Amino acid sequence: MSDLQAIYQEVILDHYRKPRNFHPLDAANQEASGHNPLCGDRVSIFLEVEDGSVKDISFQGAGCAISTASASLMTEAVKGRPVDEVRALFESFHDMMTGDEDGVERDDLGKLEALSGVRQIPIRVKCATLAWHTLKAALENDGKPVSTE
Ligand code: ZN
Repeated sequence: MSDLQAIYQEVILDHYRKPRNFHPLDAANQEASGHNPLCGDRVSIFLEVEDGSVKDISFQGAGCAISTASASLMTEAVKGRPVDEVRALFESFHDMMTGDEDGVERDDLGKLEALSGVRQIPIRVKCATLAWHTLKAALENDGKPVSTE
């Protein structure tokens, strides 16, 4: 295992053991729930969107280490950012996880890069992307439950 992989694994375990922004959000004005039937992961995303920015975000749910760490890292990455940037980040993350990286600028991913190794385990990619698809649904606010299937 390379040093980089070891650091990545450390980040994932840290966020799994101590998920950030893991609580209900009283001020939430948009939310969505997602389910990954392949693994059994469930996540609910709560957003407080104000003046076109994600003022606050939290999540709840139960899932494997990767889905929980991904949701935790995601909340840190999008908190306080304009919705436009959050949508761009979704695209960057999605491209990283699906390997569609031709010409994609990934400088903005930061700590989210810790999940890049998951791409090598296709069945786990849905664990890592569940929170992001659910976030997108919460931004659309269409109220439909999200399934990775
Ligand atoms: Zn999972």
